Amino acid sequence: MRVVHFFDILVEYVFALAFAACLVAGVFDWRYFVVAGLALLFYFIWGAWRLRCPWCGGAVELSDLCRGLRKSCHCPACGHEIVVVTRVNIKSPTTRRDQGEKPEK
Ligand SMILES: [Zn+2]
Repeated sequence: MRVVHFFDILVEYVFALAFAACLVAGVFDWRYFVVAGLALLFYFIWGAWRLRCPWCGGAVELSDLCRGLRKSCHCPACGHEIVVVTRVNIKSPTTRRDQGEKPEK
């Protein structure tokens, strides 16, 4: 199924928060800077691995995907609609797509 999972967005935000928290903690103990670097590394790896357009594989902004939670979001590269599924709408992810245009193939 060509969707983006909300869980992946959540993990991305956890990495971003961990990076910010470790950056602040690094002021008191330099070793937290190493953890912050790792968190930033995982942030980019996870974003490149999981948070891509399910149609063309292009990079999609994290803020765009968050907007896709409430209303539709479209890939900046290919223009396909990206459906973000949560546990609520995972059973019927097509209901929202029916409101807009239906993507062909
Ligand atoms: Zn795309």
